[in-house]
Order: sequence, then structure tokens, then C-alpha cells
Amino acid sequence: MLVVMQHQATTEQVEQVVETIQKMGLAAHPMPGPTRTAIGITGNSSTVDPRSLEVLPGVRELIRVTRPYKLASREMHPDDSIIKARKANIGPGTFTIIAGPCSVESEENILQVADYLMSRGVHLLRAGAFKPRTSPYSFQGLKEEGLKLLAEARDETGQAVVTEVVAPEDVDLVARYADVLQIGARNMQNYRLLEAVGQCEKAVLLKRGPAATVDEMLLAAEYILNGGNREVILCERGIRTFEAHTRFTLPLATVPWLQARTHLPVVVDPSHGTGHADLVPSMAAAAVAAGADGLIIEVHPDPKNAASDGGQTLDFGTFEKTMETCRRVAQAIGRKLH
Ligand code: PEP
Ligand code: MN
Repeated sequence: MLVVMQHQATTEQVEQVVETIQKMGLAAHPMPGPTRTAIGITGNSSTVDPRSLEVLPGVRELIRVTRPYKLASREMHPDDSIIKARKANIGPGTFTIIAGPCSVESEENILQVADYLMSRGVHLLRAGAFKPRTSPYSFQGLKEEGLKLLAEARDETGQAVVTEVVAPEDVDLVARYADVLQIGARNMQNYRLLEAVGQCEKAVLLKRGPAATVDEMLLAAEYILNGGNREVILCERGIRTFEAHTRFTLPLATVPWLQARTHLPVVVDPSHGTGHADLVPSMAAAAVAAGADGLIIEVHPDPKNAASDGGQTLDFGTFEKTMETCRRVAQAIGRKLH
């Protein structure tokens, strides 16, 4: 349920509505807008008599939110959300590139990639320090040492750092170094982890689980939003299907589908979405054409020798060509690439 206040409603009237909602045993989420404040209600509101709120001074109308996700839905929050990470804005009117190696490998490597990407105008650096690997024998990441190297890269370039957190008990540690916490595909439904990042002050990049429906992804986002963290970016990174020619199947229709239903920015990961470096440039361009708010791409100076995901990682030259194509696609559909 959403309580829409009159545009001249006072702060006291908003507070009175919030208190009344709380007395009903429900949670109130005030959302100040450009013309009026709306107050979202979460919890089991099926028993609420709308008249008890409608009669309060300053209330314009009550709208029932029909979607299972509430705070993530456009019904509750019609305007697009803009997420800030250092100098970057992610959301409407922008196109954000997040790039970097799959893993933090060494000081030399991460600084080289960060410098290169910064020189190409990429303001968000990605790299995993905690790596959720399919096999326990694969490289598991440099952990805190990797986070320190990412912080060093940020100090040098001013880029915002996007890095994965895999366990609730690591959230404080990772948040000390990261600007955006990545929840990986394997953890999209790790509810304790979602609750933990919901309590955190840092933005969250939530990747779609390979077997999750989009409704399940939005409900996972809802866990984070419900914890009080409103800075959530959704990421389509491909799903598991019967198709075996690509690592995952990248469904780009998800982008406009999500954008019609949620105010959260939607980015696409063509690296994990395809698993093959030679397919990444086309899928990156297709994601721009589909209206994505950004891309997250794996880039490494020497992909063949990358510690993880080398087969789907672009070298610098291919990354640059891909960006040029994306820029032209963006221009063709009246968008600007940042
Ligand atoms: C990654 O970004 O390197 C990663 C592990 O992604 P995903 O969780 O989408 O597999
Ligand atoms: Mn990877």
C-alpha cells in the first residue's frame, strides 16, 4: 500500500501518517518526491482498513500495490532511482561502464588495469577479492589483501570500487574498502547476506541468479531495500538453460521488462552472460540498444593468463573497440555513453 500525501502536506502531517502506520504494526517508508511525499507501507497490510489512513490530514489518496515486491516496484516509486558511487551516477540519463579483471591478482595488474580504464573514462573499477568459485581447487581470491589493492587503485585513480562480498560476516570488512558491494549470482538468494547488505551504507550490485526468475530477483532486491538500503543496482548476467554453446544464456528482454516494473537501474554483464570473449562485443552493443543503464565487463591486459574467467575477458584493444561500437549504438538511439 502507498499513501500519497497532498503536495502542500506538512512534515507534521507526514509524521502523523508514519506513526499511525507503525501503530498498526507495519513499516512506513517515507519517500519525498519532487512534488509530494509518498509513504510506502510494508508488512502484512491486507487487514488494514484504508479509511483509517485516508481520513488523516494531508493525505491525498491510498494506492494498493499489487506486485509482490513493494519497495522495488514502480507502483510505489514511479521515478527512476539514481545511484551514486563516487563521481559516477548510475541510472536514467546516463550509461555506466563498470570494468576490470574478474579477480584482483596483484598490485601491478590491478593498477595497470585501473590506470588504463581511467584513461578511457571508466569511473567504476570491478575486480573480485573474494571469489565464489565452482571448484574449491580454483583460485579463491586474495581476500583482504585484494581489498587493500583495490583501495590503492582507487586512491590512485579516484575510481569507485565494485567488489563481491560472499558472506554476511564479511560485509563490514568489504564495505570498508568498496564503494559498491557486489552480490554474485550464486548468492542472489542468500537471504542473510541480503539482509546484511541491506543494513550497509554502500550501494549494492545485485546479480541475477542463474536459475532465478526476474520476480525472484526483484524480491531479493526487496530484502536489501527493506533493510533500509535504497542503493540497489540490478544486473542481468545470464541464466542456465538447455543451451550449451554459451556459458549462460543472456536474455536481454529482461532489461525493458525490469525497467517497466522497477525504478532501480539495470545493468548487463555480457562477460558472464556469454562466457566467450568473442561474443562479448556484440552482446555489449545489444545491451545498449536494449536500453540498459550500464554494462559490467571483464577486462585484463593479458586474458589468456588471467587468474579467473580469462576465456570471457576482453583485452584492452577489444575493450576499446567495443566501447566505440557501444558509443555509436547509444548515439543512434539518442543516448549518451559515459
Ligand atoms: C564475477 O562478477 O566475477 C562473478 C563471479 O559473477 P557472477 O556472480 O555473475 O557469476
Ligand atoms: Mn568473473
